[in-house]
Amino acid sequence: MNNAKLIFAANYAARHHRQQRRKGTGDVPYVNHVLDVAARLEAAHPDDPILITAGLLHDIVEDCADWSETTGEPTPDDLRNEIAALFGAEVLGVVNEVTDDKRLAKEDRKTRQVAEVGKKSIRAKRLKLADKASNITAIADTPPDWPIARKRAYLDWAEAVVAGARGVSETLEAEFDAAVLYARNKMEA
Ligand code: ZN
Repeated sequence: MNNAKLIFAANYAARHHRQQRRKGTGDVPYVNHVLDVAARLEAAHPDDPILITAGLLHDIVEDCADWSETTGEPTPDDLRNEIAALFGAEVLGVVNEVTDDKRLAKEDRKTRQVAEVGKKSIRAKRLKLADKASNITAIADTPPDWPIARKRAYLDWAEAVVAGARGVSETLEAEFDAAVLYARNKMEA
C-alpha cells in the first residue's frame, strides 16, 4: 500500500463523515478525529499500512451506517462490503473488531468493550489505544458540555478498556497514559 492509497482512504473517510461533528466545543469536524487516530498509528507503527488505513476507516461502519436498516441509507453490511472491495479483507477485519454493535444499548456496548478487548488482535488493540488517547485528548482540549463526574467516568471507562489492550505498543500505551494524566490535570484545574 502506498501514500496514494492512504490519501484515498482519508478522502473516503471525509466523505462518509461529512455531516458529523465532534461532541465538544469548537465545532470540530468528525474526520479530524480519525485523522488524529491515523497519525498516532502512523507515528508509532509506520510500517503497518493496514493498521493506519483501518485507523482512517474505524468509525465509518459504527457511525455512518443506518443500523435500523429502515431509511434506505447504506446498512452496516453495505459499508462493510464497500470497505472490503476498496481496501481489502484485512482492513475490514480490523474495522469490524473495533466496531460496536449499535443495535445494543449504550451501556451494554461499553461493558462489552471492557470484556472483549483482551481477545482482539494486536492491530485492534493498537487502534483502541490510539482511539482512546485521541478521545481523551479531545475531552481535555475541546471539552463537551458534560458535568465533571461524567468526564471522570469516561476516563475511568477508557482506562478499563485499555487495561485489556496493553502489551502491544509501548509508544501508544505511553501516549495513552500521558493523555489521561493531561486530561485529569486539566479537568481538575
Ligand atoms: Zn474513534
